[in-house]
Amino acid sequence: MKDRVTTDVGKLKKLGLLAAILILAVVALAAYLVRGGFRRFEISPYPIPPAAFTNWNDVLAHPRDISLTTFRTGVVHMDACRNLDPASPRQADCDHVPRDLAVLVHWVHHPQFGDFLIDTGFDDSFAKHPPYGSYTEAMKLFNWVKGVTNRQETGQDLSAQLARLNIQPKAVFFTHLHPDHTGGVPALGPQTEFVFGKAEASFLARAAVANHFSGKSKFSGIDFEAAPTMSPLGASVDLFGDGSLWAISVPGHTDDDIAFLVNGAKPVLLTGDASHFAWAFKTGVAPRGWNQAGTARGYVSVEQLRAFAKTYPSVKLIYGHEAEQFNLHAD
Ligand SMILES: [Zn+2]
Repeated sequence: MKDRVTTDVGKLKKLGLLAAILILAVVALAAYLVRGGFRRFEISPYPIPPAAFTNWNDVLAHPRDISLTTFRTGVVHMDACRNLDPASPRQADCDHVPRDLAVLVHWVHHPQFGDFLIDTGFDDSFAKHPPYGSYTEAMKLFNWVKGVTNRQETGQDLSAQLARLNIQPKAVFFTHLHPDHTGGVPALGPQTEFVFGKAEASFLARAAVANHFSGKSKFSGIDFEAAPTMSPLGASVDLFGDGSLWAISVPGHTDDDIAFLVNGAKPVLLTGDASHFAWAFKTGVAPRGWNQAGTARGYVSVEQLRAFAKTYPSVKLIYGHEAEQFNLHAD
């Protein structure tokens, strides 16, 4: 009897040890997968100049000498409806056939201030190492589980397109920090400044994209709390102080998501992933957020964008990933 108890205790000890090793292994694996999240980003405040205008009527009545060129650095192939609020009753009407979503980069040229990008798309790692290029192990796993793949033609990557255009952007303004928007960062020089919403670089965002910023150190955060609300949109920042380029707070899909208005001869509103594609915008289905609160906030943002589009129909809309919305440049 005593022997049996001793044996059982021995077995229990072995089991306990095995469980401890397993737990440790799982924790170590999880920490390995999200290690980018532990990286600190030293972020300086973006110096917000006084705005040239305080309402959209005045902004649009004073177009500036600024140009916008949008190009595609690859595609994400997936059921696009899965980027939207999974609980929306409109999900049943959404076309769940997997399709190509454009991975866009926007080049903004200002004659006085220079060349800038909005988002960076993909670098050449996506043509070299399909389908996930320079994604982190966690993002590869996440996309593989979801059946999402990426594609890129040779010469379509960010550095090839910048070389053809002969530009070296001073700074990148990000709509948000997701890897299909930061994948081109390794193609940019160490002096490039990277600007995003002040609250955007959360642990989850850093876990997903920090690897793209290795060797980069110039980060600026836009504080929308210090910016005026410009109805029907939310907090809006006149980035250069001359009314030419506006950053508009549209949180939800991520914590500090940004849309941009380029106030050239033909004004354009870039919704970013506050609305991924035309159907989502037309039906008013918000993008999926990090969590339910994010998705709920996304509805506020998408309604503000829709109200703006209705009030100012002359402003062209470019959605976050819609491939069929304009004559795609340089590919
Ligand atoms: Zn995206």
